[in-house]
Amino acid sequence: MSLFPHEKRHVFDVLIVGAGPAGLGCAVALGQCGVENLLVVDRHGTGASFLRWPRQMRMISPSFHSNPFGQPDLNAITPHTSVADFLRTEHPTGEQYAAYLQALAEHYRIPVREGVEVRRVFRKGRLLHLETSDETLRAHFVIWAAGEFFFPNAASVEGAEHCLHNSQIADWPELPGVEHAVIGGFESGIDAAIHLARAGKSVHVFSRGEPWHRDSTDPSRALSPHTRDRLKDVFLHAPGTIRFHKHADVAAVERHGDTCRLLLREGEPFEISTPPILCTGFSGGLGPVAEHFAGPDVTPVFSEEADESLRTEGLFYSGPLLRHRQSIFCFIYKFRGRFGVIAREICQRLGLPWEEPLKPWRERGFLVEDLACCTDCTCAVESAAEPDPAPAEDYRAAAKEEALA
Ligand SMILES: Cc1cc2nc3c(=O)[nH]c(=O)nc-3n(C[C@H](O)[C@H](O)[C@H](O)COP(=O)(O)OP(=O)(O)OC[C@H]3O[C@@H](n4cnc5c(N)ncnc54)[C@H](O)[C@@H]3O)c2cc1C
Repeated sequence: MSLFPHEKRHVFDVLIVGAGPAGLGCAVALGQCGVENLLVVDRHGTGASFLRWPRQMRMISPSFHSNPFGQPDLNAITPHTSVADFLRTEHPTGEQYAAYLQALAEHYRIPVREGVEVRRVFRKGRLLHLETSDETLRAHFVIWAAGEFFFPNAASVEGAEHCLHNSQIADWPELPGVEHAVIGGFESGIDAAIHLARAGKSVHVFSRGEPWHRDSTDPSRALSPHTRDRLKDVFLHAPGTIRFHKHADVAAVERHGDTCRLLLREGEPFEISTPPILCTGFSGGLGPVAEHFAGPDVTPVFSEEADESLRTEGLFYSGPLLRHRQSIFCFIYKFRGRFGVIAREICQRLGLPWEEPLKPWRERGFLVEDLACCTDCTCAVESAAEPDPAPAEDYRAAAKEEALA
């Protein structure tokens, strides 16, 4: 039921763009507060990004059914669901996680309209208008939750057209060739290298620094324990090999006949006969709404109160591009902390009671207001990891030693 029954043409109370974890999580929170006149639109469908992950890829953040003890499963998007309980696995594949999202949308009866691409959002009078592939939709509030998966970052390497971005790979073992160059040494680069080495291939990982040795309490800044474990396992048991090229900043890729040449900012060029794999992340995920969140530099800005645009009232953002002070919200367990904050703000403006319905959201870390939590907490204890890591070339030996100890 609309909270504005006098509207002549249909106006949604809330429109959400994107049926991924960010959009669906906000939709459930709003639904719990009684927002009924709500629609989620998606260019593809529920969990579309996850359905496009390479077959072998799994979530690096672990799922565990810890909910009864007040600590929700890290990958859950509502306080009362558990990915581990639903899927019976700790590190779901993209396909499995999409199944969780689809089941959740069904359970909470979230209306999702598929095949609708939003091309522009603008305010006209009291309402926000969404220009879509079919029609113009109107709403009092809009939550942009379109993720970043469909915006691969190729800009950092000249000649990126000669490469493949890791989001384009459906199946690592099926990739033609026996030797591969991976550009990028963080989670997705190491993930690619692991799957290729497991398939018996020789992999060269090129990275600006040595991210595989970076030590940080924040999983957004250092390799996850899961990936470190997998690396060790690959070094010991995989039929293929991984060679790290540290401080190897790839400036450009040139194609000469059947060969690709990687030009480094410093050092000798590297030649390979297969297309280099770009694991350089994603960019420009705010696409059609970027101007609404534009700040003084390239970094988007969001209101600290509720992740709203500072330029366009009523337009909110939910998802992995969120940044506040030094905190990066790129994991689901991080950005879900703001679902309750956004829902509360919208409900307050709609005049709906939110305190009781959002109580479990607050109690279980889905309504987080402390924006300094990642930067000044005392939990940042010194890591027990090796303080002076071995150089990259010795990593294999170090892994072996550690595994045998
Ligand atoms: C390789 C890899 C591994 C990852 N592993 C983890 C992990 O282990 N743990 C973790 O927490 N996170 C992980 N992430 C990050 C996680 O996948 C993202 O943070 C999450 O998908 C973001 O959720 P979202 O809802 O914002 O976006 P998405 O899941 O991408 O959903 C956005 C939706 O919006 C739709 N859409 C986009 N543009 C439009 C438009 N213009 N109009 C209409 N619809 C549109 C898309 O079709 C899509 O369905 C990983 C990401 C990658 C790439």
